[in-house]
Amino acid sequence: MTSLMAAYGRLPVTMTSGAGAEVRDSEGRTYLDALGGIAVCALGHADPAVADAIATQARTLLHVSNLYSIPAQEELGAALCRVADMDKAFFCNSGAEANEACIKIARLHGHAKNIATPTVIVMDTAFHGRTLATIAATGNERIQKGFGPMTPGFVTVPYDDAAAVDALGDAREDIVAVMVEPVQGEGGVIVPKAGYLAELRRICDARGWLLICDEIQSGMGRTGRWFAYQHEDILPDVVAVAKALGNGMPIGACLARGEAASLIQPGSHGTTFGGNPLACAVGVAVVGELERRDLVARAGELGTRMLDGFRAALHNRPGVVDVRGKGMMMGIELDAPCGELVERALEAGLLINVTAGNVVRLLPPYILGNAEADEIVARVTRLIETFLAENDAAAADSSANATDRAASA
Ligand SMILES: *Cc1c(COP(=O)(O)O)cnc(C)c1O
Repeated sequence: MTSLMAAYGRLPVTMTSGAGAEVRDSEGRTYLDALGGIAVCALGHADPAVADAIATQARTLLHVSNLYSIPAQEELGAALCRVADMDKAFFCNSGAEANEACIKIARLHGHAKNIATPTVIVMDTAFHGRTLATIAATGNERIQKGFGPMTPGFVTVPYDDAAAVDALGDAREDIVAVMVEPVQGEGGVIVPKAGYLAELRRICDARGWLLICDEIQSGMGRTGRWFAYQHEDILPDVVAVAKALGNGMPIGACLARGEAASLIQPGSHGTTFGGNPLACAVGVAVVGELERRDLVARAGELGTRMLDGFRAALHNRPGVVDVRGKGMMMGIELDAPCGELVERALEAGLLINVTAGNVVRLLPPYILGNAEADEIVARVTRLIETFLAENDAAAADSSANATDRAASA
C-alpha cells in the first residue's frame, strides 16, 4: 500500500544514486541515462559544481523571501538575460509556473491596450504544463479531461502553420500574444520548418502581439544554442525557462524584453519560494558549468553525431516513420504504438521515454563522451530493430492464420 496519490504510472525500479550519465538502482544494476530526468539533468548526475553550490548555500542561507534583495537571484537574472538576449527575469519554481508568468504578462499587455478578453494563440500538440491555465494552453483533451471548465483566453491553431496564426489576426480583435515551443517536446519532438519562428515574429510585430517562446524543454543549450529561437536569429518578447536550469533543483524563470519586461510591477505577481538563494545559487552554478565546459556547443555536436547515427541505422527501415530532432532533443517515430519500449529499455539497462504514443524520445545529458553517445545509439537501435522484427513476425503469423482460415473455410 502506498500513501501517494496515483498521479504517475511508475516503473518497477528505485534509483538510488547516479554519476555522470549513469544511474544505479536499489539492486545494484546500472543504467545509461538517455532521458536525463526528462530534459533536466543536462550536466548529468551528481555534478560536483552543482553539489558544491547546494552544500555551500545550504550552510550559508537557504531562504529569506522576496521581501529582501537576493544577490544570487540578481546574478542568475543577469546571466540568463545575457545568454538569452532578454532584459529582465522573474523567478519561480517550475515550468508551468514560468508559463503562468508568461500568460499573465500577455494579459497585462492586452489590458494595457484596453482589450477586455485578451486571448493567446496556442498550438495543437503543444505542452505547457499541468496548472489550470497551462492545461487550457496545452489544448490536449487527454490532459484537460475531468478538469473543466477550462480557463478562457486561449485559441488553438495547428503547429508549424504561420498562415493559420495570421488568419486569426484577421478574424478576431482580442488576440494579444502567440505562445509556442520552438521545438515541441511532449507533442512528439516536432521540429518546425525553417523560418516558422521568424514568420511568427513578423506577424506579432505587424499586429502588436507578444511572441512567447516556451523553452522549458528546448532551452538552456539543449538544441546547441542557449535557446532554440537563436537558430532563427529572432528574439521573442517573453521566454519560459525551467527543466535544465537547476539540473534537478526545482527552479523556473520567465524572461522578457522591451515593453513586456516592464509590465509586472510591485504587487502584480509573486511567489514565496521563487528565486530563493539556494535555487539561484544552483542556477548560477549550472550556467557557469555550461559556459566553462562549452557544453552548449557540445550539445549541438553530440546531437548531430547521434542523429546521424540513428539516421544511418534506421532511415528507410519499414516501421520507422521519421528520425528527427535538434541537438540533444531527439525523436524516432514508429508507425505503431511503442510504449512498451520504455520497460524493455529499462530491462536492458537504458533509460528512455516514449511520447505521443509512438515516438521514442531521448533527452540525454550534454556531458556524454563520444563512446557513451555511440553506445546509446547502438542500444536504442537494437531495441527498435528487435521490436519491429517481432511485430513483423507477429503480423506475418496473423496473416498466415488468416490465410489458413480462408483456406479451411
Ligand atoms: C516540462 C514542460 C513544461 C512543464 O514544466 P513543469 O516543470 O513540469 O511544470 C512546460 N512546457 C514544456 C515545453 C515542457 O517541456
